[in-house]
Amino acid sequence: MTDDDPYILGGPQPHDFWAESVAERVLEREPEDPIVIKGGISPSGVPHLGNMNEVLRGYFVAEALRGRGRTVKQVFTADDRDPLRKLPRKLADLDGNIVGLGDVDAGALGRNLGKPYTAIPDPFGCCDSYGEHFSNLIERSADALGIDVEMVSNTERYESGAFEEVTRTLLEGREEARNVLANYQDKVDDDYVPFRPICAECGHVTETNAVTSVDLDAGTVEYVCGDIEAGGQVIEGCGHEGTATFREGKLPWRFEWPAQWQVLGVDFEPFGKDHAEGSWPSGVDISRNVLGDEPPLGMAYEWFTLDGEPFSSSAGHVIMVQDVLEFLEPEVLRYFFTKDPSRARDFSVERADQLVDEFDAFERTYFEDDDERTAAAYPPVAATVDEHPIRLPYTFAAVLGMTDDGDLREAMARRENHIPDEATEGDVAAALSRVEYARTWAERTDNAYNYRLATDLPPVEFDENTEAALDDLAGVVEAGRDGEAIQSEIFETARSHDMDPGDLFTAGYRLFFDTEQGPKLGPFLAELDRAFVVRRLRREG
Ligand SMILES: [Zn+2]
Ligand SMILES: [Zn+2]
Repeated sequence: MTDDDPYILGGPQPHDFWAESVAERVLEREPEDPIVIKGGISPSGVPHLGNMNEVLRGYFVAEALRGRGRTVKQVFTADDRDPLRKLPRKLADLDGNIVGLGDVDAGALGRNLGKPYTAIPDPFGCCDSYGEHFSNLIERSADALGIDVEMVSNTERYESGAFEEVTRTLLEGREEARNVLANYQDKVDDDYVPFRPICAECGHVTETNAVTSVDLDAGTVEYVCGDIEAGGQVIEGCGHEGTATFREGKLPWRFEWPAQWQVLGVDFEPFGKDHAEGSWPSGVDISRNVLGDEPPLGMAYEWFTLDGEPFSSSAGHVIMVQDVLEFLEPEVLRYFFTKDPSRARDFSVERADQLVDEFDAFERTYFEDDDERTAAAYPPVAATVDEHPIRLPYTFAAVLGMTDDGDLREAMARRENHIPDEATEGDVAAALSRVEYARTWAERTDNAYNYRLATDLPPVEFDENTEAALDDLAGVVEAGRDGEAIQSEIFETARSHDMDPGDLFTAGYRLFFDTEQGPKLGPFLAELDRAFVVRRLRREG
């Protein structure tokens, strides 16, 4: 493995928690404080959970470095001077609701193809530009996870002159830049110039063949506004011939990335494996051999899938942090990102219960065992490490979500010994807060827990035989049987009344949920207040 291999977690590691191993790799490079960790994204489509790798992977390394007494700054670049090349099919409003183009001012987008994201009106009308809207969403997602990142707008940095010096270096050495790039990319012609001026007339970000001459003394370039190729389509240029300063354009991505490393002093950056074979090796080469810098430590991470399919912003197969935090506690979602980034995995909404169970076990290990991985990974995941919070099993919390009655929820949780006698009121409230998460999950996935206990007796009419069976069943419950026993007694009772057991279950669901079906009835009834169940089976209230 060379120093520039981004698969840094590929071999044996010194620590059980990957972020600890990566932190040590960062420190071997003897960086100065503050150590800068970067993530970044081009603001197209929906900033979904998959994109949060750019924030969370860096966060765990940042925390490992802070644990070693270092000062760390986590920055996130919105590559918002990139041009909009095609209309996104899905967008997200500031609350994280995903909408189609038909729900926004799509015309404003269509008229602005080829322009930088920050020069395009916000299709929702709430922010200064489309680019800023997107950045706000990223920032809100990071905030919701309690992660402090400094947002950096590329456009703002170009305008302020922060990129001026590195642009000058690249234009001065454009011959060398071209030669290096040609090792990684086809179509690097003699007219390739590593600077794309923004046309003063039509506002398009021109291509790398637009510059006709460079005046290093004046700090300007001459250009002709030509056509832009965008995904098989051509966005027509206006033919304008003009002059642009080094602040009035952008570097091509292959150069912009290493330029960002220089301007921001980046020490470590995680990135998706799509960059690992492309802009990473060229960026390292450009950084070292054209800019004369030492590139940062890079780490390629694997993508994860969403319920078994790749995230697709355009197909709407995405989920945003804000959505996830309606059914998972923030610590559970942070925990998901503690998993080894070098392995592909799935984020399953359907089986969110499994992730929560895993998290609960992870937390238990931290408090009860002596384990290197959890000792390192739990503190940055948890809100506090002072004491082991009471955790209701997630699916049990989903069962409690079938009733709105807070007292009943607590009574059921106590009966199942999920709440210890000595728990304070605050502890109990914190434990019960999981119920709303689990209930949202049940509603969202419409799974076996998506039922509501009818508080009042629904309007029911049964024949005499069914009424007699229900009365018998009331007697069984009154005798204090456990869930499985009640379940089999329902079958027995139906048989002894010459009923189809299915009909007796349906009668039960009618009484308790006012529906034709529901959860496994016996165990559910065993969880409820016994007097209430008996009264309801006798149709008395
Ligand atoms: Zn907005
Ligand atoms: Zn133009």
